[in-house]
Amino acid sequence: MARMELQELVRRTDEFIRQSVIPIDDEHDGDVEAAGGDALRSRLQEQAREVGIFAPHAPIDLGGLGLGMVDRAPVFEAAGRSLFGPMALNINAPDEGNIHLLEQVATREQRGRYLDPLARGEVRSAFAMTEPAPGAGADPSMLATRAVKVDGGWLVSGRKWFITGADGASFFIVMARTKGEPGRDVAGGGATMFLVPAASAGVELVRHVRTVDRSMLGGHCEMLFTDVFVPDDDVLGGVDEGFRYAQVRLGPARMTHVMRWTGAAQRAHEVAVGYVAGREAHGARLADMGMMQQMIADNEIDLAATRALLVQACRELDEGGRASQITSITKTFAGEALHRVVDRAVQMCGGSGVSDDLPVAKLAREVRPFRIYDGPSEVHRWSIARRAVRIITGPAR
Ligand SMILES: Cc1cc2nc3c(=O)[nH]c(=O)nc-3n(C[C@H](O)[C@H](O)[C@H](O)COP(=O)(O)OP(=O)(O)OC[C@H]3O[C@@H](n4cnc5c(N)ncnc54)[C@H](O)[C@@H]3O)c2cc1C
Repeated sequence: MARMELQELVRRTDEFIRQSVIPIDDEHDGDVEAAGGDALRSRLQEQAREVGIFAPHAPIDLGGLGLGMVDRAPVFEAAGRSLFGPMALNINAPDEGNIHLLEQVATREQRGRYLDPLARGEVRSAFAMTEPAPGAGADPSMLATRAVKVDGGWLVSGRKWFITGADGASFFIVMARTKGEPGRDVAGGGATMFLVPAASAGVELVRHVRTVDRSMLGGHCEMLFTDVFVPDDDVLGGVDEGFRYAQVRLGPARMTHVMRWTGAAQRAHEVAVGYVAGREAHGARLADMGMMQQMIADNEIDLAATRALLVQACRELDEGGRASQITSITKTFAGEALHRVVDRAVQMCGGSGVSDDLPVAKLAREVRPFRIYDGPSEVHRWSIARRAVRIITGPAR
């Protein structure tokens, strides 16, 4: 997209979020169900369509704006200033990542059934990978959900949890083991992705897992899949290729999370700076005190460094690379830096910082899980170090 056109899109997104979305978000303390759930989603998406900012990431033939990763960054950040902004633009997790995956991997028939209604915002979806112990968590190779080949398709059985958006989703992308045993190296394959309509026999929503955040539509649910029949036509991509496709989804999905949470952290920072600029203590403006200046400066540094890494990662992704190292580095740094920003913002605002009079407490609450999902920081550091040793010393002998 041309530079001027992109700037105008960012401006319109920013204006829409400030005028039409933030007031609803703040009134309901970021609790999406209390604010209206799916009815709110439909209403906001309609308004976003009217101002021409709906689905900026989706293909143009599906009603989107077809933005690449670098161009997405400022638009998603503007949307992320409100916890409900990404939902309004149809760029929220997990739908946005699922749109990307389906675009890359789905057959023409699967696109018609799953991708088209998802990109148009007619339905929601979920991505089901994580399992309770001893199944897949930080280590995907522990995948225990199984798919067994039967005539004309597969029977999928297993328990998943923390599945974002599951309540009300129209379909799930389920990762299941089709080869090998839990604990085997993921490079050896063994997992397959299945498209599973929520209405399929054997799909059960067990419970909502209560987490600190409240802004994600459909919650984070525990799901039970019992002998769910999936026809061969609904295998997503090749059999035993699931771990490879997970990387296709996860690299960009991690970066779009960084974009959205940068918007949230920027808002928390601005609110906190506004507070300290207008408050006096011990005979001076708080904003002019050394320790406060350090917090303001550190927030600026963390935000700027996050954006710089993000652009580098997005460039590599736009050039068609896997960008494994840079997306891991960016995800780890951003998860921790943005957490520091919102935590400093809470501190700068004193008692109001932990109240719901200001939005900083809710932003801190919502940002915290990002250090855990999309790969905990420790797992990324482990991968970053292993790649670095390989690159610097050559392949292991
Ligand atoms: C809000 C939220 C939404 C989520 N949404 C989804 C979703 O939509 N779909 C889905 O499939 N999953 C989802 N998840 C699950 C998420 O991906 C997992 O929680 C994450 O992968 C960690 O797995 P685990 O919880 O089993 O932690 P565990 O595997 O039990 O790990 C616990 C901790 O161990 C440490 N650790 C792990 N490996 C190493 C290592 N190699 N070195 C050092 N320390 C290590 C890390 O600190 C880690 O946090 C979501 C989670 C949350 C909190």
